[in-house]
Amino acid sequence: MAKFIVQAIYRDYPIAVEVENFDDLNKIIDRLDGIGAVPPTKGHSEAAQIEQERAAPVCPYHGAMKPSTKVPGTFYCVAKMGDGSYCKSKTDAQGRLVDGAK
Ligand SMILES: [Zn+2]
Repeated sequence: MAKFIVQAIYRDYPIAVEVENFDDLNKIIDRLDGIGAVPPTKGHSEAAQIEQERAAPVCPYHGAMKPSTKVPGTFYCVAKMGDGSYCKSKTDAQGRLVDGAK
């Protein structure tokens, strides 16, 4: 008898359901979809986010910048300069580095 282990994330908890035949497998997957469980592959979206951060513009002094929530599409540097002031590096919506001091 074949055995299938269905893994899912339900209410943020990883769960595993064991079924013994293919018909039950489909039923279980339908049921999981119905209750709002998601496949563990949802983690891919996290990987995509990391990938996006890797592609983020880079501050000449501090490295990768963070996407701005205030102005979507732009990035800013969250680090501080040596004198304790916030770094003014940021980008415009085209990803070009602009000098915030100007
Ligand atoms: Zn910086």
